[in-house]
Amino acid sequence: NNDSIKTEIYDNDDGINKCTGKKYSKRYYDILEKRKLLPVWEQRSEFINKLKSSQVLVLVGETGSGKTTQIPQFVFEAGFVEKGTMVGVTQPRRVAALSVAKRVSEEMDVVLGEEVGYSIRFEELTSEKTFMKYMTDGMLLRESMADPLLKKYSVIILDEAHERTLSTDILFGLIKGVLQKRKDLKLVVMSATLDAGKFQKYFNDAPLMKVPGRLHPVEIYYTQEPERDYLDAAVRTVLSIHQDEDAGDILVFLTGEDEIEETCTRVAREAKQMQLPPITCLPLYSTLPMSQQSKIFDNYPHRKCIFSTNIAETSLTIDGIVYVVDPGFSKQKTYNPRSRIESLLVSPISQASAKQRAGRAGRTRPGKCFRLYTEKSFKKNLPVQTYPEILRANLSTVILQLKKLGVDDLVHFDFMDPPIPETLMRALEVLHYLGALDDEGELTKDGEIMAEFPLDPQLSKILVSSARYNCSNEVLTIAAMLSVPNVFHRPKDNRRDADQTKKLFDHIDGDHLTLLNVYHSFKQSGENTTWCYDNYLNYRAIKQATNVRSQLARILSRFGVPLVSGDINSRDYYINIRKCLVSGFFMQAARLEKKNEYFTLGDEQKVMLHPSCGLDRRPDWVIYNELVLTSSNYLRTATDIKFEWLLESAPHYIDSLLDPSVPQKTRQNIERAKKYIAMTTSFTDYPKLKSIIE
Ligand code: ADP
Ligand code: MG
Repeated sequence: NNDSIKTEIYDNDDGINKCTGKKYSKRYYDILEKRKLLPVWEQRSEFINKLKSSQVLVLVGETGSGKTTQIPQFVFEAGFVEKGTMVGVTQPRRVAALSVAKRVSEEMDVVLGEEVGYSIRFEELTSEKTFMKYMTDGMLLRESMADPLLKKYSVIILDEAHERTLSTDILFGLIKGVLQKRKDLKLVVMSATLDAGKFQKYFNDAPLMKVPGRLHPVEIYYTQEPERDYLDAAVRTVLSIHQDEDAGDILVFLTGEDEIEETCTRVAREAKQMQLPPITCLPLYSTLPMSQQSKIFDNYPHRKCIFSTNIAETSLTIDGIVYVVDPGFSKQKTYNPRSRIESLLVSPISQASAKQRAGRAGRTRPGKCFRLYTEKSFKKNLPVQTYPEILRANLSTVILQLKKLGVDDLVHFDFMDPPIPETLMRALEVLHYLGALDDEGELTKDGEIMAEFPLDPQLSKILVSSARYNCSNEVLTIAAMLSVPNVFHRPKDNRRDADQTKKLFDHIDGDHLTLLNVYHSFKQSGENTTWCYDNYLNYRAIKQATNVRSQLARILSRFGVPLVSGDINSRDYYINIRKCLVSGFFMQAARLEKKNEYFTLGDEQKVMLHPSCGLDRRPDWVIYNELVLTSSNYLRTATDIKFEWLLESAPHYIDSLLDPSVPQKTRQNIERAKKYIAMTTSFTDYPKLKSIIE
């Protein structure tokens, strides 16, 4: 029959690519041979039949079994994708969406961005022809704001569901509703862990399909004693594997870019010093340029060692890994609803994660996993499962989106795991302080616009209020620069020179304005790469900021917000920009106590200005973009502000800090600052006083 012909296109191959009408390349056939070996291939018709008979299907399979790359192709080949629509596949991580889209375009022998495309924040590569789109879960959530019934899609695949990211969790609830209204829409929920009962139950007892993995045994080694410094331990372990163990590649799990770059360089250097055989050390993290990311899939004549973030835990599969080094940490978002502070904290992973990591060693043959912690610690200190993000993240961004979608009754929203009421309340409160919600909890005009930006509400807020401060052009630049990877390059062997050079751009009033300087100079240089290189600036990042900036500008213009600038020679030019920053970042303020010590307003955390901060003095009050919690706590990207600006921008918020639940010190300081302002105003600002009285 018709269907079986469709699914047997590989057997009745006439050498012509049905998508493009062109002849298949040799590479297509080379890759096809490998694809046919993937475990999902054996269950191809089973999958297609199951999806035919059910609107929702839960698919569980070991990492590397071919879910992400093959299932969307099966879906397409079996005719589930109506003409003019797409199959959309979500990924929690940008890198995964991008890298898998690229891989699948190669597998299908098409140009990336034509039939197969991707969409990640600020970067979309698709065309009229696109029928398969890999995207971050956050992007699909955004799309649903403009297209609540997700009409562009015939099939949606929520991949890596076991990660339970905030966006995926919200999509569960939204799509469950859409499935009711659109009987023609199909949903596949894919997960790498066997605990799929929860997904099935949530989707009204959806059928399950299991893809058995072909995992070889992995021997687990623990350390005898806890490690003092897991980076040191990781370096030592990699070197000794390289020295003593048979051929096979190594995968090391670390928590972030800095750590990865440092460890990567150290291993390469020490291996050379010890005169060990050659080893190729490669980093893998999300802000790495694509060209460098794809190096991890290349073959090398000798051992390769990959230093990766959690990306390699389940999102990306690298063939040939035989040894895994697992220090047991990852960076996790945590949010303290009371202090409203969200931070990325290096935290112990869960037992489930540790098992996934170990599994990466046994894909091609028996492997070994070196855990840099004790067995006792594994059993006693690691939580069994990772907590869903919805229970530990700041919800203000998604709540703003839900509001825009018309979901008003958050308490009765069909959450798979409902967030803690306090977290919900706090998120609503934050949106209220920001002026996105009114006293009744309805979306305001500002809130409507804010929801359109793919940014945190704080950043969207400064964009929305920028015209009122006569500085939308400048604030667009600052918001764009804050949304790309760090533009300042600090090479290890040239730090001093780099720091000296950075000083040329430093603005006396703060780092946000320094970013503005950098951007302007970049434009003046004619977007010159050599100029960037000479000034220790990351060309790729600033170039990306120009792109992000125009995207944000388009959104502002769409809502009729004028793009304006003040007179650069006027006294108010920079003051207006700083005031505008305060209009969004008033919840990220800190007060100077002595010499170098700042305390965050609201929860009195002791912090210092980050060494990269360009302020040459220590202002009484600053706002900051990021709180970095390490051995000592730092404020990153800080700008000098005045307390009265806080009071002007966010009177409700400041008043809330006088509540007895807030640390006494904060309350005292606010009282004092308020009194001081009242006094000075009455003497110096007579017109203002007069207007208040009248
Ligand atoms: P799953 O989603 O089940 O974890 P994937 O579909 O991601 O599995 O991976 C299937 C296979 O495709 C793996 O063996 C992996 O090595 C291979 N693969 C994926 N991306 C690439 C790539 N960019 N280059 C080479 N091989 C790749
Ligand atoms: Mg996958």
